Amino acid sequence: MFRRRLAWQIYGSFLALLALSLLATEWHASSSLRESHDQWVFDDLQARADLLVSEFAALSLDADNTSRAAVDARCKLLGLARLTRVTVIALDGAVLGDSDSDPQTMENHRDRSEIVEAMSGQPGRAQRPSPTLGKMMYYVAAPVRRDGRIAAVVRVSRAQAAVEGEVLVLRGRIIAGGLVVALVAAAAAWWISLRISRPLVLMRKAAECFARGDLGCKLPASGAEELSALSAAMNDMARQLDERIRAITHQRNEIEAVLASMMEAVIAVDSQERILRMNRAAGALFGVDTRAAEGRILQEAIRSPELQKLVTRALESQTLVEGDVAIEGPPLRFLQAHGSRLSDVEGLALGAVIVLNDVTRLRRLETVRRDFVANVSHELRTPITSIKGFLETLRGGAVEPETAKRFLDIAVKHAERLNAIIEDLLALSRLEQDNAKQEIALDRAKLREAVDSAVLVCQGQAAAKGIVVEVDCPPDVELCINRPLIEQALVNLIDNAIKFSEPAKTVRVEVSVAQAFVPADEKQHGRQEGLPHQEVVLAVRDQGWGIPEDHLARVFERFYRVDKARSRKAGGTGLGLAIVKHIAQAHGGRVSVESTVGKGSVFRIHLPAS
Ligand code: ADP
Repeated sequence: MFRRRLAWQIYGSFLALLALSLLATEWHASSSLRESHDQWVFDDLQARADLLVSEFAALSLDADNTSRAAVDARCKLLGLARLTRVTVIALDGAVLGDSDSDPQTMENHRDRSEIVEAMSGQPGRAQRPSPTLGKMMYYVAAPVRRDGRIAAVVRVSRAQAAVEGEVLVLRGRIIAGGLVVALVAAAAAWWISLRISRPLVLMRKAAECFARGDLGCKLPASGAEELSALSAAMNDMARQLDERIRAITHQRNEIEAVLASMMEAVIAVDSQERILRMNRAAGALFGVDTRAAEGRILQEAIRSPELQKLVTRALESQTLVEGDVAIEGPPLRFLQAHGSRLSDVEGLALGAVIVLNDVTRLRRLETVRRDFVANVSHELRTPITSIKGFLETLRGGAVEPETAKRFLDIAVKHAERLNAIIEDLLALSRLEQDNAKQEIALDRAKLREAVDSAVLVCQGQAAAKGIVVEVDCPPDVELCINRPLIEQALVNLIDNAIKFSEPAKTVRVEVSVAQAFVPADEKQHGRQEGLPHQEVVLAVRDQGWGIPEDHLARVFERFYRVDKARSRKAGGTGLGLAIVKHIAQAHGGRVSVESTVGKGSVFRIHLPAS
């Protein structure tokens, strides 16, 4: 809707009032002027009539032609001299003389009101059109007395048009003066309008400034008392708003920072299950853009029926609710969720906050622990059951000495196996502990010496199977290593290579320095994925049976065996490769394997060169 500026509204009203008062003044002045002018004209005519009465009283006023001609001539003379129409009327109403017309042609004047009045002895006045001249006229009639009796009536008259001219001149002056005053008043009114509206305009601008969020704008506390009080109130309001907004922003930033730095995923929803806030961890966990998700319905943004149910429960419950949420992989994730309702002062649900902890690692560790306990139990049960069986048989007696010796030999073998498993388990656990505490002592050593020493340990076993162990290692390659551990790892690998090869094959131990890239899943020791670095590779290559491809990924797990019967028969514990992997990791390195069934395998320990 079109709205006029306040200054224009005030100015318009001023101008209308001014115009009205000017018109009223002009009308009043004009009518007063006319009234007093009429009065003045009548008084003037009266004075003239009074003068003329004595003039005509001296003349013969008879109805004979001579007297008439004399009277008429005097009328014309006086009329010319006084600029007034002069008429003399006989008692019967007949016109004896007239300054402007021929009395012969004039009608009887007995009925004229001023004449009637004058005949009765009073001066008569009238303002009306003249039938003779056809103009508006002022008339004043006075009786001419002779010997105490009225002998005739002298009438003086004046055309209104002549008077009107004077009135018009006066009116013109009044209007001109009024216009000058009006112009001055209009300018003053414009100035007053601006003065009244300026503080309001300033207030409007300040209010617009506040509305834009700039609460630093200040209103000048000037002008009328009411306006300056309003300015002060608005300034105060802006200051308070500013303080509150600052406090809210500060709190919000704190909450943002807390939420952003939380490892736990946090999702806040309203009572309609619309996402109000979601932290970075939640976005990363569910793979959604937090900004895009805010404002959307939870189930549209995150497709998780379990989370949906938990939110519904949290909204309905007065207490903290708990639940498990799984995120379909890969990788499969397990989350532990806690939800609590957000209520207003009256206890009505405003929404709910859900906090989710990623317990995938914990669950995986639990599974590993369970599997480990099951595996250890299984591994230990077989030798213990056998030992127990043989010992019970021996205790029962009636066993041939030959058989008893065989039984005891088998029991000893199982006991040795038990010992080997326990030794390996202890070695693994020590490695894990030392690795966790970073307590592995590293010394600069020549790799060739460690390799030779490991080969020497396995020499007897190799010779028994007619296997040749070849070494290809530059003599001067030095590295910071824990020599006993590296020797142990090499022994495990060479031992496996001999165990899982047909007799008379060759096993090669190769040491080389290579350029390598850290694989994505093996980021260690602060090295960035994808950046090239130097590494020393210790490889044990055999011409054995090889490992089928689907087993390759798991051979470094504890107690994992490709062929259980063959491994046990060969005296393996199923922990050898797990130990190798941990030793490599303790050195900041990794392990890898390549194998072709029927052709052989290459197990490698990759150690960082620096
Ligand atoms: P084990 O004590 O049984 O040798 P490891 O952890 O050393 O346990 O090895 C795990 C499994 O990996 C072995 O049981 C075997 O099946 C397979 N394996 C290890 N080294 C070789 C190899 N050089 N050739 C073929 N298979 C091997």
